[in-house]
Amino acid sequence: MKGGVPSMVQSLMDSIDVLTGVGPKREQALNNLDIYTIEDLLMYYPTRYEDLAVKKPSETADGEKVTFKGVAASEPVMRRFGRKKVMVTFRLTVEHETIQVSFFNQPWIAQKIVSNAELAVYGNYDKKRQRLTGMKLMLNDDEAEMQAIYPASKEIKQATIKELVFQALHKYADLLDAQIVPKQIRERYQLMGHGDVIRNMHQPSDDFTAQAARRTASFEEFYIFQMRLQLIKQMDRQNQGRAIKFDNDDMKRFIATLPFELTDAQKRVVNEILRDMRRPQHMNRLLQGDVGSGKTVVSALAMYGAITANMQATIMAPTEILAQQHARTLGNFFNPDEVRVELLTGSTKSAARRQILEDLVAGDIDILVGTHALIQPDVQFHNLGLAVIDEQHRFGVKQRAKLREIGMNPDILTMTATPIPRTLAITAYGEMDVSIIDQLPAGRKQIKTEWVRQSGYEKVLDFIKTELAKGAQAYVVTPLIEESETLDIQNAQAVHQELTEIFGPTYQVGLLHGRLANQEKEQIMADFKANAFQVLVSTTVIEVGVDVPNASVMLILDADRFGLSQLHQLRGRVGRGERQSYTFLVSDPKTQYGIDRMEAMTETTDGFVLAQKDLELRGAGDILGQRQSGVPEFKVGDPVRDLKMMTIAQEEAIETVDTPEWDQNPEIATLVELLDETMSRYRNFD
Ligand code: ADP
Ligand code: MG
Repeated sequence: MKGGVPSMVQSLMDSIDVLTGVGPKREQALNNLDIYTIEDLLMYYPTRYEDLAVKKPSETADGEKVTFKGVAASEPVMRRFGRKKVMVTFRLTVEHETIQVSFFNQPWIAQKIVSNAELAVYGNYDKKRQRLTGMKLMLNDDEAEMQAIYPASKEIKQATIKELVFQALHKYADLLDAQIVPKQIRERYQLMGHGDVIRNMHQPSDDFTAQAARRTASFEEFYIFQMRLQLIKQMDRQNQGRAIKFDNDDMKRFIATLPFELTDAQKRVVNEILRDMRRPQHMNRLLQGDVGSGKTVVSALAMYGAITANMQATIMAPTEILAQQHARTLGNFFNPDEVRVELLTGSTKSAARRQILEDLVAGDIDILVGTHALIQPDVQFHNLGLAVIDEQHRFGVKQRAKLREIGMNPDILTMTATPIPRTLAITAYGEMDVSIIDQLPAGRKQIKTEWVRQSGYEKVLDFIKTELAKGAQAYVVTPLIEESETLDIQNAQAVHQELTEIFGPTYQVGLLHGRLANQEKEQIMADFKANAFQVLVSTTVIEVGVDVPNASVMLILDADRFGLSQLHQLRGRVGRGERQSYTFLVSDPKTQYGIDRMEAMTETTDGFVLAQKDLELRGAGDILGQRQSGVPEFKVGDPVRDLKMMTIAQEEAIETVDTPEWDQNPEIATLVELLDETMSRYRNFD
């Protein structure tokens, strides 16, 4: 049945298959462009316009795109050349000049040209030869001068989108003036109404109107986005979390047992987190801190807080190695008689797993450390108060959303070392409260970073030898070869062999790569930490969080194959102890972008500065991409360029959701409908 449930009442939420010409196949193709409803289609805005500005040849510069209006001064001539190439030419008289017009590979043009007919041609003007290479032929005057250009797909052509939009604009004309942005806000910032935005985005009368419409469209997009975040935040708060009434004296006693003094920044964020936990509202807090800033101990304190309130805690890490390391570190921090820490990962043997699950639900385990193997239906806690997610940017949105469903609605603390530039944080983490550790533990020496060409490789190895002689350890990272994991590992093996010859037998060289069994990986890491070997050759599995304070040299081969944030993460593996640390980037970059990255790395060790650099080098799209942070990409607005607008949208959205019954306002029916839909999608995250 066409159109699903037939409805008497039209709504912008009608499925697009109500439009003529949309059958199941085309509907699927539109869905692939994220167009499901009429509203989606109407908000599928052109990315740009071709300005078909009409000019005289004398006013037109060489190479300019222009529309000439005139009279055909000859019959068309069609010529074939090469294989399958066709050129149609005719003369066009514009005012008093005659222009030679040619269209390539559009033979049908020939049938449309009649001598003495009035017509307009849009194309590229070659002034010297008075020729116009035609791109578009217009036979009547009413065709709009600004042509909307849509992001099309293989299955759906420009013309189809244009036609469907045209249909929707007419069929739903009466509904277009329901609003997204409430009136006071529109008036405050001189924004257009939603209907005007839609009409002017698709069919602007001129450039000025198009720009004005785009400004409002960006705001609408940001406002919808921020409304979503604020609603999520509100739902999170209403979810009665529980007040975690930690024991202050126990906390103090525990802090006194730590092997070091907390930095001021650590103390501050611990207070922020504990204050949040004590509140009855649900906590959703992000802890941001550069690599090596000491986030683990902060999370340990938060987890300990939950334990003193007779609750359990869990910490989830993106890789097995990291989970194992956390289990070890936490095991060392705590007195085993007081706090029982267990590790649960994909490779936990089934008998051990069964025992852990049993003890967990009985409340005999205080802290469960693990990978995403933790989010399984049979993992049941007795009384979970706090869930920590380490290196949260490594988890997908879905995993994060799923974690919310971990039993008992625990408070959530996420941690990341990927410093999102401040200009993006509002967008990336808008629904969370943020704590920042902006200080490294005292006594750390600045890591020295050097970029060397391949030709300087041997010298670097000599240098490493002298450091090894002083008792230091070194990492050597080989790049991920995208095309093949096998090549990737072979490469690491080759480097391992080479370095064994160079450094052996005085020094031992280990090898770590992704194909090893988890137990082997753990053993290798433990051996390296125990200084059983002094050099560790590794593929990027080493990347996150690994902590070996005695390692003070990081050698990264073919460094231009890595992204900036990855290089920064890798560099963060050294500089964790008392030794002066070094990072060597060996590469002969072939692009300017590669050179820029190497230079950025040598210029600063500040993750925030690098993140900003990265942003400038790559553009926001990449950083905000779904994969990295779970933030949708924006269609019209640019959250970096339009940061101020995003900030305003956030402030206004906060105010809106705080207004009682804001969603009963009939004026903003479209907003409410859009949000209803996304909120139910959010709730049903699978
Ligand atoms: P990250 O924030 O990158 O996860 P870690 O938590 O792994 O950093 O801490 C890095 C290293 O710094 C660890 O060896 C940890 O024991 C140590 N450390 C953490 N806090 C302090 C501190 N206040 N003083 C000295 N060393 C600290
Ligand atoms: Mg860490």
